[in-house]
Amino acid sequence: MRENRFRAALQNPSLFPVTWELVPGRGAREAAQDRALAQAAQAAAGGDIAALTLTDNPGGTPAMSADFMGGEILKLGIEPLVHFTCKDKNRNAIESQLYALDRAGVRNLLVMSGDYPVSGFRGRPAPVFDLDPIHVLQLISDMNRGLELPGPKGAVRHRPSDFFAGAVVSPFKATEAEQMIQYYKLAKKIAAGAEFVVTQLGYDARKFHEVLLFMKQSGFTLPLVGNIYILPYGAARMMNANDLPGSVVTDRLLADIDRERSDPDKGLGARILRAARLYAVLKGMGYSGVHIGGHNIPCEQVREIVRQGEALAPGWRELVRHFDYPLDGGFYCYEKDSATGLNREEPARFGARPSDAPAGALYGFARFCHKLLFEPGRNLYGAMKTLCGKVAGSRVEGPFHKLEHLSKVALFDCRDCGDCALIDTAYLCPMSQCPKNQRNGACGGSYQGWCEVYPGKKQCLYVRAYARLKKHGELEQLKNNIVPPCNWDLSQTSSWINYYLGRDHTAKKSGI
Ligand code: SF4
Repeated sequence: MRENRFRAALQNPSLFPVTWELVPGRGAREAAQDRALAQAAQAAAGGDIAALTLTDNPGGTPAMSADFMGGEILKLGIEPLVHFTCKDKNRNAIESQLYALDRAGVRNLLVMSGDYPVSGFRGRPAPVFDLDPIHVLQLISDMNRGLELPGPKGAVRHRPSDFFAGAVVSPFKATEAEQMIQYYKLAKKIAAGAEFVVTQLGYDARKFHEVLLFMKQSGFTLPLVGNIYILPYGAARMMNANDLPGSVVTDRLLADIDRERSDPDKGLGARILRAARLYAVLKGMGYSGVHIGGHNIPCEQVREIVRQGEALAPGWRELVRHFDYPLDGGFYCYEKDSATGLNREEPARFGARPSDAPAGALYGFARFCHKLLFEPGRNLYGAMKTLCGKVAGSRVEGPFHKLEHLSKVALFDCRDCGDCALIDTAYLCPMSQCPKNQRNGACGGSYQGWCEVYPGKKQCLYVRAYARLKKHGELEQLKNNIVPPCNWDLSQTSSWINYYLGRDHTAKKSGI
C-alpha cells in the first residue's frame, strides 16, 4: 500500500508538518474550484506542505464535495485531508461515503459534527445529524479492523481500510460547562479511535496551552495540531459578532486588527506576522504541527508564514504576550503562570464555581422518579419490568405508549424516538433540545453558553446538563459514557417497554 506521507510526518516527532486549508467553494466549473486545484498543484510541486485540508460545506452552505476534490488532489501528488462532517447524511450515506473514499485512496479524514445547514435549493434543507463524530470514528475504527457484517452464510469480513482519522477540539470556550464538555467529548473521540487532534482557531496562547496540558495530564499521546487562521478585518468582524460559530475574536483583537488596516500595506504584513508568531509559539509549546487557513490565501503566504515562523521559533517565549486575548470572565482549567503568560501545571480548583445555568426544579423530580423506577434492582424497577413485559404485544400496548408519550411530551418535549437518552443527558431530550441531536456532548458551535442555532435564546443542552450533574456531584456521567446512535427501529414505540425489555441502547450497559 502507498505510504501515507501525512501520517508519517505527523507521527515523526522530529518533524513539524504544515497543512493548508483549501475551500472547494460552491459550483463545479467556477473560479473557486479552478483556483483550489491550481493552489493544490503549486503546493504539490513544492513538497513542503504535508497535506491539503478540504472544507466540507463550510458555514452550512452547499459546496463542491470535499471527497471528490480529495481524489483530484491526490492525483496531483499531495495528500488530501478531507473534513468529514456528520451533517446532511444518515449513517448509511456515511458508510457509503467512506467506501468511496477508501476506494479512491483518500485516507486522511478530519471528523467533526459540521455546521448547521443554513441555505440550499429553494430554502433551508432538512437538518440530518444521524451520527455524531464519536460514532463516525467508531465506524472508521471498525472499517480499519475489517468491518464485519451479517451475510446469508454467516458473518462476512471486509478487507481493512487504512483511514487515518482525526478529531477536533475547541479550547476557546467562555464558560466552565462548555469547556469541560469539549474536553470530555475529546476523551470520548480518542477512545473511539481518533489518531490525531486539531484545535479550533483562536488567538489566546493560554487556551492553546490549556488543551496541550489537558492532553498530557490525561495520558493522551496522539499528535496535536494547532490551527492558525490568517485573519483579515472582515473575517475578524464576523467572528467577533459570532457569525462563524465556534471561532472566537475578542473586542481587543478586533480593535488591533482594525488599527492595522491603516498600515501602508493595509495590514497584510501584520496578518502574516501574527500567523508566523503563532506558528513559533505553537511549535515552541510542543504542538506536533500546524494547520494554516485563511480566505483565498495564496501558497506564497503559507510559505512566508512558515519561513518567518521557523526564524522566530527559538524565541517563542517572548512572543506569548502577542496572544493575550482572553474572553471577558472566560474560564480556564489552570491558573495563570504570570512568569510565562501561560498556565501552571496544577489544575485550578473550580468545583465551587457558580453554575453556568440553573439546575431547575424539574430535574429534582426527574431524578427522584429515575431512582424510584429506572435503577435496576431498586424500588419499583422489578414491578415496572414485569408490567412492561405483560403490556408488550398486548392490546393495551397502544394506550400505554400514548400515556407514556403524553407525559414525556409535557415534561421533556419528547419526540418519541423510542431509544431514550434522557438517562444519559441529565433528563434533557437531545432530539428536541439539541438541533444537531448530539448524544455525546456539545458540538463546537456553542457561544457564551448559548446554542449555535439559537444564540441568546436557548442555552446549549450540555451547559444545562453539566449544571444539573455538577450540582449532584455526578459529572462522571458525561465523561466516559459513549452513547450509541439512536436506533430508528424503535421510533414511535414505547421507550419504557424498550428500556425494561432490553431493546434500547441501555441494555448492553446495564446488562438487562
Ligand atoms: S424517547 Fe427519545 S425523543 Fe423522547 S425524551 Fe427520550 S430521547 Fe427524547
